[in-house]
Amino acid sequence: MIKIKNLHAGIEGKQILNGIDLDIRPGEVHAIMGPNGSGKSTLASVLAGREDYEVTKGSVEFLGRDLLELKPEERAGEGLFLAFQYPVEIPGLSTINFIKTAVNEVRKYKGQEPLDAVAFLKLMNEKMALMNMDKTLLSRSLNEGFSGGEKKRNEIFQMAMLQPKLAILDETDSGLDIDAIRIVANGVNKLKSSDNAILVVTHYQRLLDYIVPDFVHVLYNGRIVKSGSKELALELEEKGYDFIKNENPTIN
Ligand code: ADP
Ligand code: MG
Ligand code: MG
Repeated sequence: MIKIKNLHAGIEGKQILNGIDLDIRPGEVHAIMGPNGSGKSTLASVLAGREDYEVTKGSVEFLGRDLLELKPEERAGEGLFLAFQYPVEIPGLSTINFIKTAVNEVRKYKGQEPLDAVAFLKLMNEKMALMNMDKTLLSRSLNEGFSGGEKKRNEIFQMAMLQPKLAILDETDSGLDIDAIRIVANGVNKLKSSDNAILVVTHYQRLLDYIVPDFVHVLYNGRIVKSGSKELALELEEKGYDFIKNENPTIN
């Protein structure tokens, strides 16, 4: 699905990622954990193609293509979904029209006709039921006045509608209350299948009580310093990130 090799990247001349290696295969759920400032959001941003980030070394292959050569909208067309691509508030643009545009952009990229009203409604109803999505949210302006939990629900609904090959969820360190955790976890658990993959980036072990990852990786100073199964997340919860540092005295 995705092969990240020796990825180095930074922003505004500051080096943040110092050689990331990561392989994700179809059907897998990976979690990246790490202390604040370790580069988790930078990794997610680089994979999404955010322009302010500069890749200085390494490669990323996504479904056989050079991901780093693709524009953000091409990445979406190829089947990459990045949760934080969409949390902007756009007054006057209904949430449902936004999602319809996103779905049809991806179809257009693949050379498919836009969904007609009936087919779109069918897909929407199916995913709304799956995600317990509140219909009134969809007719409101995109994210405008949405609570944290509603934004999260909307984001996960977008993911369900777009049916990406690889979804990257950057769960920022703030505002992930228990409701939001459940929304994200339910979404991930319901959408995972043998032909897609999910990368969850999180500071919190707690999220992984609800999502069962196949692999957990610890990011520290821009490097993956430890990988393991879900037990690694429990170990981190128990011992804190300091134990990683103690195990790897040279990582600073
Ligand atoms: P995490 O998501 O793991 O908390 P980030 O990827 O957000 O970490 O940040 C990694 C490091 O990069 C931090 O030291 C942060 O201060 C720095 N950083 C992030 N954005 C910028 C920026 N725009 N300019 C300079 N440094 C930045
Ligand atoms: Mg942070
Ligand atoms: Mg972050």
